[in-house]
Amino acid sequence: MSDQYAVIGNPIGHTKSPLIHRLFAEESQQDMSYTAIEGPLEPHDAFAETVRSFIAGGGKGMNVTAPFKLKAFAMADERSERAALAGAANALSFRNGRIIAENFDGVGLVRDIEVNLKLPMAGKRVLLLGAGGAVRGALLPFIAARPAELVVANRDVAKVKALAAQVATGDSLVACGYGDLEAMGRFDLVINATSASLTGELPPVPPGVFGPTGAAYELAYGKRLTPFLRLARNAGVLGIADGVGMLVEQAAEAFSWWRGVRPQTQAVIDRLTVPLD
Ligand code: NDP
Repeated sequence: MSDQYAVIGNPIGHTKSPLIHRLFAEESQQDMSYTAIEGPLEPHDAFAETVRSFIAGGGKGMNVTAPFKLKAFAMADERSERAALAGAANALSFRNGRIIAENFDGVGLVRDIEVNLKLPMAGKRVLLLGAGGAVRGALLPFIAARPAELVVANRDVAKVKALAAQVATGDSLVACGYGDLEAMGRFDLVINATSASLTGELPPVPPGVFGPTGAAYELAYGKRLTPFLRLARNAGVLGIADGVGMLVEQAAEAFSWWRGVRPQTQAVIDRLTVPLD
């Protein structure tokens, strides 16, 4: 029987993960199956039972999406450092009777920005909006990319300050509210990692943060020109992108972790890309 993998979430009908992993498996000639599982929301321990029955049936690994990333992290026997900072897992590997938790959202995002979009962050001024799960997963990979300054802004300022306090980095990491951004000038890269775009909202970011040589990145994908990307474009940025590349790159990280083979990503990104205009 082929090695079995799955993505688990609720709802799960929208997921692109089975398609992405099928394309990766075809291209890298891996004998594996990959399905989508709608995980149970109730009772509390039903999620863990579903994962354990997948393992008992021969499952080798899982991607985890909303709302189960915290539960997946909690049930693991081992956790990577970036999963530990995020307090959340987006990938699990089942080896020798143990559950290992990883979080590839942040490395996938950094890889899309630096490799696919060719926007190296070293020495640049980077502004990250939000302090939810995606930012928690992104913080260590962003710091590793060595921006000159990394500013993280959130509506709930206490939340973002508490998150920043968990990573000791000296002066290069600043946590603040949106009201503080006015005085901070332009950034080379502004990333919307809030969930505002899912409901068509705009985080209260001042247009002055965007500059004519800068870029704007939206984590949501498939939503064309979100209010955030529209604001950035109207402010005259050089480039805009959405999160489809991040989605494919985090999947590629999980695939390499499970299979020991790194798949090509560009053709898959091209296939899933919805034009922004
Ligand atoms: P969370 O629910 O964990 O966090 C949401 C964050 O958005 C919070 O910081 C919240 O602020 C902020 N927020 C929500 N609405 C607004 C608003 N109107 N104005 C300003 N801030 C707002 O979400 P995630 O971190 O898991 O996801 C964030 C985004 O990233 C989503 O769009 C998601 O789809 C996307 N994503 C994309 C991935 C990809 O592969 N491309 C992977 C993972 C996520 P506060 O704390 O003040 O409430």
